[in-house]
Amino acid sequence: MSITLEQRKQIDDIIQLNSYSDYRWIDAKRIIVSQWVRMKCKFGCSEYGRGGACPPNTASVAECERFFREYTNAVILHFEGKMDKPEDRHAWSAKINAKLVKLERAVFLAGFERTFLLFMDSCCFCKACTGNRETCEQPRMARPAPEAMAVDVYSTVRQFGFDINVRGNVDQKMDRYAFLMVH
Ligand code: SF4
Repeated sequence: MSITLEQRKQIDDIIQLNSYSDYRWIDAKRIIVSQWVRMKCKFGCSEYGRGGACPPNTASVAECERFFREYTNAVILHFEGKMDKPEDRHAWSAKINAKLVKLERAVFLAGFERTFLLFMDSCCFCKACTGNRETCEQPRMARPAPEAMAVDVYSTVRQFGFDINVRGNVDQKMDRYAFLMVH
């Protein structure tokens, strides 16, 4: 089921009121979920099993596929970052993610009950993550990143004309993406 143009305009107003301009509406059915993304989480990522909003605390890949199939309308929001030091990324992501939770809430309160946000990076709210949902310090705020929901962010965002590249060095520009699942 799709939302009406009037509803889309209503959400555009909320998004812009929250000071976002670099975003695009997408057909949520074009979000690509892949098993290889989960393998990258499991092998090679230091946050696997250590992030309260990261695998294995998120859904299985099959459940992620089912979750995305329930949506038709979504918004991708783009964030660009360039860090002087790699350790600055944590604070940068925490600030953006905290603001994104407010956006999710505003859209939800406008009557879009299914609204669910996927962060632009791992949660990052706490200096040391407790590593599981039961002991999460901010359970009402924490959300998974698209990658933690097995989204192939590279292939998905490129379909909509967004830039994204593998970075060879930490001082290169970063393109990060949050997904606002609407309906
Ligand atoms: S809020 Fe804190 S404890 Fe919970 S997932 Fe985020 S970083 Fe981990």
